[in-house]
Amino acid sequence: MKKILFIFIILFYCNESFSFNLNYPENFKLKKIDSDFKSSIGINGKTRNQLHQGIDIKGPKGQVIIAVKDGIVLETHVEKCWGPTIVIDHGHSFDGKKLIVLYGHVGEIFVEEGEKIERGQEIATLGNNHHDFRCIYGVRHLHLQIGQKYRYNKEGHWGWSYFLKDGRKSLNPHNYWSNGTKNITCFEKNKKFKEGSITYPFPCEKL
Ligand SMILES: [Zn+2]
Repeated sequence: MKKILFIFIILFYCNESFSFNLNYPENFKLKKIDSDFKSSIGINGKTRNQLHQGIDIKGPKGQVIIAVKDGIVLETHVEKCWGPTIVIDHGHSFDGKKLIVLYGHVGEIFVEEGEKIERGQEIATLGNNHHDFRCIYGVRHLHLQIGQKYRYNKEGHWGWSYFLKDGRKSLNPHNYWSNGTKNITCFEKNKKFKEGSITYPFPCEKL
């Protein structure tokens, strides 16, 4: 009995540690994260098979998606489970990590492989394809995931594994916001952001 209680406490503690007490900016209106990094609950409300390796944000059809940092497009691909996906090499983080970012489950894509991208640039919109690809689970949303190792040899791989070699050890995006850990940071034109940091992948509305 004691053992069971102990396991229960550990499970409870682990779950708790995966809610990040995020700070959303007060002077902006923005769509919040619906399924967070390491969450065990999927975007469809069901239990995930594995803890979430990215963040999910729901949006309407035509929702604009913007680049989280300057970078170069490594790949645009309609993956059989993930649907249309953009992979951008965003260089390095301020703590020296490589930032290979997946923008998954999008609709229309506005960028091409090899293209240089600026932070805040419109790279895609959400589409009406959330029932066409199994990994979108019938809920229109962006899945953003940060790995460090891009996969060049795709043979036999699908889902995040098609794009990343280290997708199971993805980086926690909340460590890299420009305004500091857990401080979600909106992109603003003509603003200087911290070197090696990221900004939110949806545009924010200034209040
Ligand atoms: Zn996701």
